[in-house]
Amino acid sequence: MKPYVEMTVEELNQELDDLKKEYKKVQAMDMQLNMGRGIPCIDQLDLSMGMMDVLDSSSDLTCEDGTDCRNYGQLTGIQEARELLGDMMENNPKDIIIYGNSSLNVMFDTISRVWTHGVMGSTPWCKLPEVKFLCPVPGYDRHFAITQYFGIKMIPVPMTPTGPDMDIVEKLVSEDDTIKGIWCVPKYSNPSGISYSDETVRRFARLKPAAPDFRIFWDNAYGMHHLYDDHQDYLIEILAECKRAGNPDLVYKFASTSKITFPGSGIAAVATSPNNMVDFVNTLKFQTIGHDKVNQLRHVRFFGDIHGMVEHMRKHAAIIRPKFEMVEETLAKNLNGLDIGTWTSPRGGYFILFDSLPGCAKEIVALMKKAGVIMTPAGATWPYGKDPNDSNIRIAPTYPTLTELKTAMETFTLCVRIASAKKILA
Ligand code: PLP
Repeated sequence: MKPYVEMTVEELNQELDDLKKEYKKVQAMDMQLNMGRGIPCIDQLDLSMGMMDVLDSSSDLTCEDGTDCRNYGQLTGIQEARELLGDMMENNPKDIIIYGNSSLNVMFDTISRVWTHGVMGSTPWCKLPEVKFLCPVPGYDRHFAITQYFGIKMIPVPMTPTGPDMDIVEKLVSEDDTIKGIWCVPKYSNPSGISYSDETVRRFARLKPAAPDFRIFWDNAYGMHHLYDDHQDYLIEILAECKRAGNPDLVYKFASTSKITFPGSGIAAVATSPNNMVDFVNTLKFQTIGHDKVNQLRHVRFFGDIHGMVEHMRKHAAIIRPKFEMVEETLAKNLNGLDIGTWTSPRGGYFILFDSLPGCAKEIVALMKKAGVIMTPAGATWPYGKDPNDSNIRIAPTYPTLTELKTAMETFTLCVRIASAKKILA
């Protein structure tokens, strides 16, 4: 097949007729599949069922330091959990606070806190005439939803294959003191799957923001989520790098075990500098007497230590790697040479990013819906849901079975071809 733009109008019309016939057949299959969100599949959830066995009514729920997990206490988490999450996040346990069941919740609470109480004694953001956030795009819709909720103005910054465009980030944060933060998913990013390069991380750590209360919201949600044993992305640890650069307070780092054990029933954590930690704890102590220590202990006893968690993540990879590979193979088989889309090849995380011809993403997602497959809405990866090129589509391969995914991806490439042919003919 030659590129669509090189076809004559007659050839492309013929192609479109053939594709439409194919599409009708797919519609007749009456599929019902939801690929809208990147969630683990049932086989992945089953991997953590052993967590239900490590504690029962005969278990001793006493921590190594004598804390009784059945009672109040340990506001910043039990020591064993801080050590486990410290290894997972590559941070010293003393720089870690263990939270509840969701890192997104902690991110929301963090913005809420600085909104009303500022950052280390700064003016609360709610009292400022304008607050802006940089949003690398495409990015995670739920991050953008939080900043939108607080009325924070979001400024898109383009992603490159090595992370956000740092020339733009450096320029904007150094010139504008109303820019107070940036959302980052530095490893196996949502949705592109790329990881920030060493240079990008080093430049982040050396930012010179005009606003002293500027913070990097470093959401390392996929730190452990490699697809392969032999080729994995490596990320420079940001807290240490900020310290080295003389900017120790610049970053709030978030993570959770959501996509390691059970999403919504895992444990979340923050790692940050001692100064920032004071801010976090000063609010936390009013929010709760302590988080769920039994769940923290359950996680620690289930994994034993970080090696247990690494082994566990290998099992996740064995389940989802064939799905990622199949998505890429199907895209390549059906679209290579047509010049109507590009896609990423992540080594980890939960997503593949597809970039259609400009102006086609909404149409592709709508065609998928009419064929019975729900995708993440086009535009969701941009602030305010507005992708100016209408080209980004997030593919979430983990949840469907391999067979369902195969059918869904064959359908996807069909929809891409239909939307692209129509666009070129228009
Ligand atoms: N951060 C990113 C980048 C995510 O992709 C997700 C879930 O998809 C989350 C956070 C949610 O994490 P949690 O379950 O800890 O709230």
